[in-house]
Amino acid sequence: MTDTSLTHRQADLVIAGAGMTGASLAHLLAPAMRDGMRVVLLDRQQIRADADVLQRPPSFDGRATALSWGTRLLLEQMGCWQAVAGRACAIEHIQVSDRGRFGQTHLHAHEQNAEALGYIVENTVLGHALLKDIRELPGLTLLDQTSVTNVQMTADGASLTLDNGEQLDTRLLVLADGARSGIAARLGIRHDREDYDSVALVTQVQTDRPHGHWAYERFNDTGPVAFLPLQERSFAVVWTIPAEAIAEVMAQPDSVLIERLQAIIGWKVGNILAIGERATYPLALVRSQEQVRRALVLLGNAAHSLHPVAGQGFNLALRDTAVLAEYLLQCWQQRGDPGDLTMLQAYARQQQQDQRNTILASDWLPRVFAHPGTLVAFARDAGLLALSAAPVARRLLARHAMGLGHRAARLDYGDS
Ligand SMILES: Cc1cc2nc3c(=O)[nH]c(=O)nc-3n(C[C@H](O)[C@H](O)[C@H](O)COP(=O)(O)OP(=O)(O)OC[C@H]3O[C@@H](n4cnc5c(N)ncnc54)[C@H](O)[C@@H]3O)c2cc1C
Repeated sequence: MTDTSLTHRQADLVIAGAGMTGASLAHLLAPAMRDGMRVVLLDRQQIRADADVLQRPPSFDGRATALSWGTRLLLEQMGCWQAVAGRACAIEHIQVSDRGRFGQTHLHAHEQNAEALGYIVENTVLGHALLKDIRELPGLTLLDQTSVTNVQMTADGASLTLDNGEQLDTRLLVLADGARSGIAARLGIRHDREDYDSVALVTQVQTDRPHGHWAYERFNDTGPVAFLPLQERSFAVVWTIPAEAIAEVMAQPDSVLIERLQAIIGWKVGNILAIGERATYPLALVRSQEQVRRALVLLGNAAHSLHPVAGQGFNLALRDTAVLAEYLLQCWQQRGDPGDLTMLQAYARQQQQDQRNTILASDWLPRVFAHPGTLVAFARDAGLLALSAAPVARRLLARHAMGLGHRAARLDYGDS
């Protein structure tokens, strides 16, 4: 643990979990912290300033994340984009297609008058950007290598027992502790879980041709495969594989996997020359049955964990986080109670539609495209063709992919 100097063990806000979501909330609350808000950010993992070699919390493992344009704008407001920009690959074109069938559609940044539809960033880069200066945030106490062993809701907020025996009282507890939120379970909050019976195999491939800033979403008879441009001649790959086949796939040598991936994606990416380390993630849609209670909010994967096919999990979590921050900043400015239930319910109501739409799209895509039936396949091809011929529909899809089309959070403290 790096900071044991928490003197009075009282906070206005405790964020449990310093993954992408928890760390983002800490940055977004900086204006209130400069104005006296005391925030404790805790994580059971070690967090080191040299985050390139950090012992990585789960958020910041070897994956790459597709960031929407809207996420870029929020990272800019948080002062974290500069550290990402030099290592982010712009997505200028997206092709969505169905392997072995005729349907496909293209989205282009220039059609949206944007420099990019989104960006691909390695999670370690994102981790570095979010965590490197976190200790410098005024009013923030960072407790790493610290777990919550017990939690009780009280008349004034919440009281946490930490694994070092300390007691920590807070007016608002934000659970950003991931999809298996142990703390939520202790508070009797249940999660609905729908398994996709499939696993995401995540890796990187090198090719003999520059990617030209194209991202490919290819629907294959076993599920979707995403090729996301990374370095000039490499892609991050997210390959959805039925759970019963994953052991066999993982046992195959690199040469066989390269052949299989090449057969799925075709030659538009050039020759695949090499494949990197492989990691697997079981896929499920997990949603908490409650997201707010008095003095309590569930955020990020603790609230909803999505199928990664549309690359929306963190983008949605950050939109939620920004809107929550907007409410909290306003509340702090008016010297209100950050645990006030009416305010927290207003936050939850405001995000309901964005969450519903994003979850629906992330859930629907893999189900429809994994369906082997000819009629379904024909309908989706017709849909892709119709989409490619309909600029308005394509614009809507592009705006969704860019994380736009929602009211942006107002985060400028002092303007309300
Ligand atoms: C294969 C794959 C690809 C993805 N690709 C994309 C993409 O392209 N775009 C996108 O937007 N999203 C993507 N996502 C989703 C994205 O990774 C998640 O939305 C994001 O990681 C959620 O972060 P989080 O901080 O909410 O949770 P987590 O990353 O799970 O972090 C939780 C944190 O809480 C800590 N913690 C847990 N329990 C405790 C405890 N009791 N006490 C203290 N600390 C605790 C953990 O150590 C961890 O640091 C993808 C997900 C997967 C699986």
